[in-house]
Amino acid sequence: MHQLTLAEIARGLSAKQFSSEELTRALLARIEALGPRLNAFITVTEDHAIEQARAADARRAAGENGPLLGAPLAHKDLFCTRGIRTSCASRMLDNFQAPYDATVVEKLAAAGTVTLGKTNMDEFAMGSANENSHYGPVRNPWQLDHVPGGSSGGSAAAVAARLLPATTGTDTGGSIRQPAAFTNLTGLKPTYGRVSRWGMVAYASSLDQAGPLARTAEDCALMLQAMAGFDPKDSTSIDEAVPDYSATLNDSLQGLRIGVPREYFGAGLDPRIAERVEACIAELEKLGAVIKPISLPNMQHAIPAYYVIAPAEASSNLSRFDGVRFGYRCENPLDLTDLYKRSRGEGFGPEVQRRIMVGTYALSAGYYDAYYLKAQRIRRLIKNDFMAAFQEVDVILGPTTPNPAWKLGAKNNDPVAAYLEDVYTITANLAGLPGLSMPMGFADGLPVGAQLLAPYFQEGRLLNVAHRYQQVTDWHRQSPEGF
Ligand code: GLN
Repeated sequence: MHQLTLAEIARGLSAKQFSSEELTRALLARIEALGPRLNAFITVTEDHAIEQARAADARRAAGENGPLLGAPLAHKDLFCTRGIRTSCASRMLDNFQAPYDATVVEKLAAAGTVTLGKTNMDEFAMGSANENSHYGPVRNPWQLDHVPGGSSGGSAAAVAARLLPATTGTDTGGSIRQPAAFTNLTGLKPTYGRVSRWGMVAYASSLDQAGPLARTAEDCALMLQAMAGFDPKDSTSIDEAVPDYSATLNDSLQGLRIGVPREYFGAGLDPRIAERVEACIAELEKLGAVIKPISLPNMQHAIPAYYVIAPAEASSNLSRFDGVRFGYRCENPLDLTDLYKRSRGEGFGPEVQRRIMVGTYALSAGYYDAYYLKAQRIRRLIKNDFMAAFQEVDVILGPTTPNPAWKLGAKNNDPVAAYLEDVYTITANLAGLPGLSMPMGFADGLPVGAQLLAPYFQEGRLLNVAHRYQQVTDWHRQSPEGF
């Protein structure tokens, strides 16, 4: 049963081949048996899951038949869940229980999904390897001594290992797409404002966006359908109708203009990945797409701009965790200053402290113009590059990452080396555009992903292209040995 996709589960449940409770129990048993090898979960919510599964079965018995009714999933541990710990993989929130559900959690629950637990992640979503977790690193099911990517590494590892058919993730600079690429999944970062951020612990508010991780584009369509939509509780949520994402999955790609930016094929790209992109392009051409070379001239400035803007926003967002209003409090403080200093020093891990310091520095009075303002200007140039490109093409295609997953610990002493791995993903966040990563092959046993980008609110187009590609390829069907 664990090999079933969400769409197959929907059919099985609807045909009464199994109940949600049976499926949930089978997956909980797998999580118990195999989960520890990966460290993909921070919390497993067995009782809660059985309860939700029974409720879903009862709704189905009463005649309801939604596609996600009774479908098991897990949430990245930065979505607030009422009565269930939300840790953000930080000592700071180790014992935090939100008094409410995030909008995404609420919407998926209303659709009838069953929450099996909360997945491991980089602390406060800062990282690209899931090695910055207070609860220890997550392992890549494809090669256990490799990282699964980050920051949604637990979400990705759990789906890749067939512990669950789908999970939620968040993407501030690539944290859905990059772990999807590293673990052979399909992952979608929607347009900024498409999915509500309410109840999602903030990292960098102008970049954060929630989305699904699953095995297929078809499953991502089902997930996004339930997650998307206007939310008056999020002031950046956009009041734009949600199209039927499943209805356009099979649209023809005849004449679709796909732009391939020449800047993507610079010296940093692993030649094995470049080769896979070529093969992916050839496949899409066979489906009728027309390939056009394009240029994104300001791409080289994206990493420096992102690593000013994201830490700046983080330094502000994380100031609330002071040991007074929220979060971990140190033992026996001498006075108020000591309480702040030690609570934050002991509660936050090293990468989070590094980002808070960088961000605070960039926002400080004497440096604001030189760093933050400059980064915002670059952000606009990057957006303009995309707007110009989308005059010529319908979607943009390239690699999701310059390299496949690296070995655990390989970049521990060099944070900048990890930052450079985000080169292809962060531009979509800076511009607010939707992006999708899909499996496109392997490099010596490690999965690699193709990234598709589209104009605002064209998630349906991304899912359509990925779905058509997945009809003629079987990369996404490969599963890691031992799982
Ligand atoms: N790797 C990027 C960072 O560390 C992106 C993380 C994310 O998307 N949450 O900031």
